Amino acid sequence: MTRVLTGATLVDGTGAAPVADAAVVIDGDRITAAGARGALSWQQDAEVIDVRGRTLIPGLIDAHDHLASHGYGIATRFGLDEPASTAHLRTARVLAETLAMGYTSVRDGGGLDAGFKVAIEQGLIQGPRLVCGIQIVSPTGGIGDRVSPSGHTCCAVYDPLLPNSVANGPDAVRGVVRTMVRAGADVIKTATTGGASSRPGHGPLDAAFSPEEMQALVGESHALGRRVMCHALGGPGLDVALKAGVDSIEHGCYLDVNPEHLKRMADEGIFFVPTLLVYGYHRESQSPHVRVRAQDFQKHHIASIQRALELGVPIAAGTDAGGHGHPKNAGELQCLVDAGMTPMQALRAATQWAAQCLALEREVGTVEQGRLADLVVVNGNPLEDFGVLLDPARIELVLKGGAICTDRRAQVTR
Ligand SMILES: [Zn+2]
Repeated sequence: MTRVLTGATLVDGTGAAPVADAAVVIDGDRITAAGARGALSWQQDAEVIDVRGRTLIPGLIDAHDHLASHGYGIATRFGLDEPASTAHLRTARVLAETLAMGYTSVRDGGGLDAGFKVAIEQGLIQGPRLVCGIQIVSPTGGIGDRVSPSGHTCCAVYDPLLPNSVANGPDAVRGVVRTMVRAGADVIKTATTGGASSRPGHGPLDAAFSPEEMQALVGESHALGRRVMCHALGGPGLDVALKAGVDSIEHGCYLDVNPEHLKRMADEGIFFVPTLLVYGYHRESQSPHVRVRAQDFQKHHIASIQRALELGVPIAAGTDAGGHGHPKNAGELQCLVDAGMTPMQALRAATQWAAQCLALEREVGTVEQGRLADLVVVNGNPLEDFGVLLDPARIELVLKGGAICTDRRAQVTR
């Protein structure tokens, strides 16, 4: 079936100037043509959807989410405060809401089991295309090692779909990477430093994993065709990650400190996924050690983004959503603008560049001939005000692979 969206202003994700009165022609699940309406033609029996006065953008992409995380409290994180079935249904609702907000692809940085991806592919539930990390691979004491402040390890029942991800020594690390892949990992998520919210004693500049362990992790991941997304904020752990050849640095709050780091990322095309939104939350944290850390690196984080832009380091938008709430993922775009990006750069960070980060650039991220028809029709101009992407009423149409997932046009006065 051919479907055509006509009349909108098209922002195609490539950085090209917006095209007024555009048309996007969709055949099945793919885009067959996109551009100025007057320059395109289509079959007479095509279904034409008039979206005049609206803006049409590529489906949005979050390069770093935790869709199955619903709070930072220890009981929630250990899965103790509600039945597993209730938590799973909560996750299913988050998946549906995230898609309805225009996020058609999401990379999950850990905690979401691969069964959700199966459920979406089989049409049991609605949700974005998923790239799953399954669990965070780390050594004992790293952020993948779930220990309570009392020193107790997680008491929840073992879940084979979220297998143990703690490993020490190169051989054990290789084994855990294979286990993650067996459990359905599309990407290997690891961490070579602590973070803002990690336990006291393992902060943003504290290292996890030796060079030998990280080389084993990256080597095994790449041998199995998986990219490595590495949580690394700063210090020697960040250095180890970059030298081992990870594919993206997540958070990267202290990247500005060592000039060699961003230079290496530019030279090697290593992605920077800053995740600014989550740190606004952590700066207000109830836990003093979290608050101090997040306040401490804020200036560095912004300087890192500005330096990365100057050097041409590829940047992808990620929210680290989960503990701090769903599904206001698009809040990250205004954060990126506040940090020094142009609105067009911020939009590309959440479309074309994020698709490149996920190795999906031939499938999604731009509105071009041959891409999957992941499209969002917005009432308003996101390039003038990213706030429109936070208002569900303004996200009028969401298409994923040519199928209409959300249609709020009937509810709005036109
Ligand atoms: Zn994360």
